[in-house]
Amino acid sequence: MTDQERTLREKLRIKPGETIRLKDRSPRDKSLFGDEQQTKAATAALAKEIDTLQDRLYAEGSRALLVVLQGTDTSGKDGTIRGVFNATGPLGVTVHAFGPPSRLELEHDYLWRVHAACPRRGTIGIFNRSHYEDVLVGKVRKLAPEKVIEQRYEQINAFEKMLVETGTTILKFMLHISKDEQKERLQERLADPAKHWKFNPGDLEDREHWDDYQEAYEIMLHRCSTQWAPWHVIPADRKWVRNAAIATIVKATLEEMDPQYPKVSWNPGDFKVE
Ligand code: ADP
Repeated sequence: MTDQERTLREKLRIKPGETIRLKDRSPRDKSLFGDEQQTKAATAALAKEIDTLQDRLYAEGSRALLVVLQGTDTSGKDGTIRGVFNATGPLGVTVHAFGPPSRLELEHDYLWRVHAACPRRGTIGIFNRSHYEDVLVGKVRKLAPEKVIEQRYEQINAFEKMLVETGTTILKFMLHISKDEQKERLQERLADPAKHWKFNPGDLEDREHWDDYQEAYEIMLHRCSTQWAPWHVIPADRKWVRNAAIATIVKATLEEMDPQYPKVSWNPGDFKVE
């Protein structure tokens, strides 16, 4: 990992037990990167490196990487997947989007559907929303009693610890956008027929609870950024900054995992393909 990558990761990572105020972190911050065009080119190069490392992870077949993306509506979860994993072969990447739980899912504990969606060994799994909805929308909309929500933070930490101890590396990214940026993005969705499908009147209801969501995020970041599964707060008003930051951390983490092609027991020179 280069010094620049380490500095970036340290700046964005929430330390275990740290209390942060999202208001103190600018969603428009671009100080981590230089020129926009150069940064975009560097991100494209990182996406290719992620692909190469993913190929090694797949060949090694013994570990997995789970990337959790959380953020309010329009924060750019889909765009991140497109921007960071566009060069990654589809063979070894799964994307799972979590919507409101189905009736069957509600008949189980809230982590049941999450565990089932976790990446297989050798693959990268991306969660577009996740089990954290159960302490976000769950808390804000009071979908469960306060006492039940309160228990979930530790349950989630224990669940993630188990995943890590059994071979899954976890990276969690909160896409931090401003209320003004969300307004613009929602207006764009209303103005462009090609984006109408993305608009959901329910998003406006959630927007009315903006402050409550920000608070729920702060609590979640404080309680669930652990040594084994850290949260990162990504300045996400600028898409190129968001993609560059996440691509850098994903690439550095895969490099640290250092997956190895398996050694073969035969000598390639012994074979001849006619
Ligand atoms: P998106 O808005 O991400 O494009 P959807 O509209 O299909 O996708 O689903 C997202 C919605 O599902 C969000 O409003 C989110 O709060 C809700 N959701 C996700 N997980 C849960 C959960 N565990 N409990 C309640 N609602 C949830």
